[in-house]
Amino acid sequence: GSTIGILGGGQLGRMLAVAAAQLGYKVHVYAPDAESVAAEVTAHHTQAAWDDEPRLAGFAAACDIVTFEFENVPVDTVRFLSGHVAVHPGGKPLEIAQDRLTEKSFVADLGGRTAPFAAVPTRAALDSALAAIGTPAILKTVRMGYDGKGQARIAAPADADAAWEAIGSQPAILEGFVAFDHEFSVIMVRGIDGETRFWDSSANVHEGGILAVSSLPPPSIVLDQQPAARAMMAAIGDALDYVGVLTGEFFATDAGPVFNEMAPRVHNSGHWTIEGAVTSQFENHIRAVAGLPLGDTAVPLLPVTMHNLIGAQIEKIPALLADGAAHVHHYGKTEVRDGRKLGHVTWVG
Ligand code: ATP
Ligand code: MG
Ligand code: MG
Repeated sequence: GSTIGILGGGQLGRMLAVAAAQLGYKVHVYAPDAESVAAEVTAHHTQAAWDDEPRLAGFAAACDIVTFEFENVPVDTVRFLSGHVAVHPGGKPLEIAQDRLTEKSFVADLGGRTAPFAAVPTRAALDSALAAIGTPAILKTVRMGYDGKGQARIAAPADADAAWEAIGSQPAILEGFVAFDHEFSVIMVRGIDGETRFWDSSANVHEGGILAVSSLPPPSIVLDQQPAARAMMAAIGDALDYVGVLTGEFFATDAGPVFNEMAPRVHNSGHWTIEGAVTSQFENHIRAVAGLPLGDTAVPLLPVTMHNLIGAQIEKIPALLADGAAHVHHYGKTEVRDGRKLGHVTWVG
């Protein structure tokens, strides 16, 4: 059997590994962290740093194809591995998605609409950015943010000092605050031959910057804006010759869909596809990177609702198990922390 290598050891890697195993693959997880919930579902695991070239070379030799579940794998790691083994998607999409300025410029160059934005390399630049963008606005670190971490809202120019300090006084992007009706995501899979398929968009509700609920069908404004958002994602996929699952996060506004960010990987807002779609995002990602035919993305039964289990919400699992219709997912993480994604539950129909 062939071996698929996965860079990163979180729950996305765990669900990818389960999908790969279903298709008969061996899975080898490479992650620096001592705790890897992805490694726990396979016999093959390398725990080593992202820049440990001898260990990376050994991992590449053990794998037929490599992919990643974590958007902050260093680009150099992927470039190094690409010299030894096929890596999908490659270093380019990763490089773009890791830098919010590069990401928004890339999408704007392709004709996509983003929030107004300005580079904020220094504290002084924040004042000129605020003059250009206005308030309300959001200051975000250019790199490494997730789950709303590394962000500060700016209601008025007087908040500038506090916001700059709150994000750790580091290179940032200032974005105009988008007045949106709903948030939605477009999850797309693109095969090695360029064939592209989409799952229906869910409406996504965030609490405290963290995804709480994804549900279908979404409100009609999302359905209306889904075709334009899909066209945007298809253009990104073609420009990057992308292979695998690619997710775009959008705001539905009166002026049409506004691109927020992309993730060059499977996405939390697509967990419902495990039980809610004919083929899940995880299985289709494995099919795409392995060069297999893509599976059907249709949704046989509505409504579909996915709730994340964050922090202490994981304690609801016994009660959820008593509801025979609830599809319960526990990621097997040992440490319960506020704001940490520990599981999710999906209802179909
Ligand atoms: P993720 O966990 O999705 O990777 P992240 O930390 O990368 O999150 P964003 O997705 O950019 O951060 O922002 C988190 C949430 O904050 C968004 O889903 C949205 O609710 C809100 N938000 C971000 N940017 C804007 C904006 N320009 N205008 C209005 N709301 C915004
Ligand atoms: Mg993000
Ligand atoms: Mg986001």
